[in-house]
Amino acid sequence: MSPSPRRILITTALPYANGALHLGHLVEYIQADIWARFHKLNGHDCLFISGNDAHGTPIMISAQKRGITPEALVAAVHEERITDFAGFLVDFDYFDATTHAPENQALANQIYYALRDNKDIFTREIAQAFDPEKQLFLPDRYVKGDCPRCGANDQYGDNCEACGATYAPTELKNPVSALSGATPIQKHSLHYFFQLEKYTDALKKWINSGKLQPQIANKLAEWFEVGLQPWDISRDAPYFGFEIPDAPGKYFYVWLDAPIGYMASLKKLCATRKDICFDDYWKKDSVAELYHFIGKDIVYFHALFWPALLMGSNFRTPSAIFTHGFLNLNGQKMSKSRGTFITARDYLTHLNPEYLRYYFAAKLNSHVEDIDLNLTDFVQRINADLIGKYINIASRCAGFIHKFFAGKLGELTASSIRGELNQDPHVLYQHFIAAGEVIAKHYEQREFQHAVREIMALADLANQYIADQQPWIVAKDTAQLAEVQTICTAGLNLFRLLTLYLKPILPTTALAVENFLNTPEPLTWQNSQQPLFNHLIQPFKPLLQRIDPESINALLADTSKATATL
Ligand SMILES: [Zn+2]
Repeated sequence: MSPSPRRILITTALPYANGALHLGHLVEYIQADIWARFHKLNGHDCLFISGNDAHGTPIMISAQKRGITPEALVAAVHEERITDFAGFLVDFDYFDATTHAPENQALANQIYYALRDNKDIFTREIAQAFDPEKQLFLPDRYVKGDCPRCGANDQYGDNCEACGATYAPTELKNPVSALSGATPIQKHSLHYFFQLEKYTDALKKWINSGKLQPQIANKLAEWFEVGLQPWDISRDAPYFGFEIPDAPGKYFYVWLDAPIGYMASLKKLCATRKDICFDDYWKKDSVAELYHFIGKDIVYFHALFWPALLMGSNFRTPSAIFTHGFLNLNGQKMSKSRGTFITARDYLTHLNPEYLRYYFAAKLNSHVEDIDLNLTDFVQRINADLIGKYINIASRCAGFIHKFFAGKLGELTASSIRGELNQDPHVLYQHFIAAGEVIAKHYEQREFQHAVREIMALADLANQYIADQQPWIVAKDTAQLAEVQTICTAGLNLFRLLTLYLKPILPTTALAVENFLNTPEPLTWQNSQQPLFNHLIQPFKPLLQRIDPESINALLADTSKATATL
């Protein structure tokens, strides 16, 4: 691959520190983790960071309900997050506990002052729903009432789930506060606005330089046609966030400081690691690559506001933003009321995390598509691909190496080719090495589904080779035992390459295979060109188990039980 190491910073969106992680969240963390691991395996200087998004009204309200501070709520959620990410082998270089941190506040203030000095900030009084009992301005989602179009009851203040209408909370009929049930009043307050529209040309230029997937760039073109609007960046007290430095009682809207959390996380990491420097990644002329993985619901914040904030405050902008779709379960949106919200925790109680990583990888590509987790297909795919094709190669070969050759691999001698059907193991091995280039390209372009398809096609070839060579027949004739060693040496060396190619997806299995094959060092794209010859391996132990469909039933039973207690 690439001869000189690249400096790469990869982020995932900061998960909101309110509620458990579920499989829908994991699409993004697993996708980004695979990509980060791939770059590290290729010798690049790659950092993978994220953190909890702590600010905003929902967290403030959740904490109040529990009778604890927002800080305590976020700290408790953080502990769960760390365990869940580790459980799914999502290996962040740094996962920041909270955006409610001095490093983030200092950067948010710095950016705000820069925008103010540019005259990008103005104030305007607006009317907003206010809960007279709770003494709180209500976000749109906290006002409920009857839809102004179809009259459906109990609809949110921003859109109707019955007829799909969107509207302002002031248009709702019979509005009530979702917090107290009181009728909200309209109250005026001074708000701070960022003049996003001043950045229209700069943003268009930025987007047209290939920073976004075509589908997202097209979506943004529609927004440009309508015209960009000033962005309300302030909220009134009480609000869990950062107070605007020159505006007592006014707070930064959570979406202003959340992406600044990407910078603050790196700043905190730099404080503990002498080998990395914040400016190398974030200064205006930085040559480091900066990539954000996000869901399609937060494109507006990342592809418009965020680069505009960075441009206005003299920082670098992202190299690219990678947007993904949502996760469906058995063809349907995951839903709490239908009992199909599978939490990370429940999954891990019943199933191996690498199975989900593999299944997602087999479905992920560079486009903005929803992924369907079809549980029947999931079981079949894991059992057929990982157990039936991949692991099968090792289990067919390792026994002979131990039974007849004291655990020692032989060599690939061309003279051992039997019959015209049979392939020269050298040629096959070289084919696998060449395919590694193609697979690397697929990973680089985030076409994981193509990488997986390619790897499984190689696994088919390896199995075919073993089936053609029939070591179990050859082994019956002691005069031909050397051939058995050659066949199994070839099989295990092909298995070793498949393990490398799957390593970004299956890191735990790769480690177990490295131990089993006794590799001199962990497998990387660079150190795996030479096969292992005349080399002692460890006894074979089953590396992965077939999925028992019963474990799926048990998972679903837990999921609906958890839903019933919500
Ligand atoms: Zn309606």
